[in-house]
Amino acid sequence: QANEKESMYLVSEFAQKYFHNTLMNTDEGQAIGYSYFKERGFTGDTIKKFGLGYSPEEWDAFSKEALGKAYKLDYLDKTGLTIVREDGRTVDRFRGRVMFPIQSMSGRVLGFGGRILSNDKKAAKYLNSPESEIYHKSKVLYGIFHAKQAIAKQDNCYLVEGYTDVIQMHQAGIENVVASSGTALTPDQIRLINRLTKNITVLFDGDAAGLRASVRGIDLILEEGMNVKVCTFPDGDDPDSFAKKTPHDELIAYLENNSKDFIQFKAGLLMDEAKNDPVKKAGLIRDMVTSISKIPDRIQREIYVQEVARIMDISEQVLVSTLSQIVQKDI
Ligand code: ATP
Ligand code: MN
Ligand code: MN
Ligand code: MN
Repeated sequence: QANEKESMYLVSEFAQKYFHNTLMNTDEGQAIGYSYFKERGFTGDTIKKFGLGYSPEEWDAFSKEALGKAYKLDYLDKTGLTIVREDGRTVDRFRGRVMFPIQSMSGRVLGFGGRILSNDKKAAKYLNSPESEIYHKSKVLYGIFHAKQAIAKQDNCYLVEGYTDVIQMHQAGIENVVASSGTALTPDQIRLINRLTKNITVLFDGDAAGLRASVRGIDLILEEGMNVKVCTFPDGDDPDSFAKKTPHDELIAYLENNSKDFIQFKAGLLMDEAKNDPVKKAGLIRDMVTSISKIPDRIQREIYVQEVARIMDISEQVLVSTLSQIVQKDI
């Protein structure tokens, strides 16, 4: 078992080198992959640091190369890098994509995210390695290897949605950044951060559609006893696009000035939603109190009750009694 995992790591590390080399040293990689990264504003140093790569269009370029170097088909299959079809033919999972290697806390390559180059709506924009013995999507945070020192030093972790957000922020000199890679944050991922800091700042993509869903997921972070701030970006921007066009000092100032305490942010958000509809407001207060109920620290809960009472213009007593209805916690 241990041997099998080690073999899978070795195959993944070989793949990372292969994709990187293809990006840097082949005509196809340069013309398609490298120029794509350049267009996104990534420097050569950034490409190297994150080990970015390119997978050729050809059906089985990677598989042929790996098998030729005596990597076993079994491990190529188990890591999902090669797909063994019903007719016995082996094809590469990743073809014609720019490649983002996903690394563990200690820097081992666990899997990949691969992005198509066109903005063609038919194909999935990102394709990821499948779950395997070495890659558990729910336990990994993209960028954690490069971010861990900065997270501990800054005593704060920025959480973003995507690969390119992490990379662009690094390039802008902000290194305490990790991504959940599009999925809702899991308790395992939160605990990974919790080992390094108690403070998370969630950076939302500036598309209102995703906001309510993301806000709901944050209760999980509160439950782990962490302090949560949130920061939004102008409509249509995500941390990547915003960092790309904003000078360093301005970016730092933006993050500082726009990071808000999560409970206060949510209370304001819900108030905007309720407008002057009392029935709606009643439901939203319940939602708000549910978030507060997740906070393990009793004194913090009490302070938030006061804050929320003020923001939502309702008495503390009502909040306290709603709180005790929702959970039999004493406050
Ligand atoms: P880009 O800037 O390259 O378009 P993004 O990171 O801004 O990418 P989003 O649409 O904001 O892309 O999605 C955030 C993250 O969700 C992605 O980085 C990726 O990890 C994941 N994701 C997005 N689309 C898909 C998909 N079709 N399949 C799997 N994962 C996806
Ligand atoms: Mn998004
Ligand atoms: Mn995005
Ligand atoms: Mn983006």
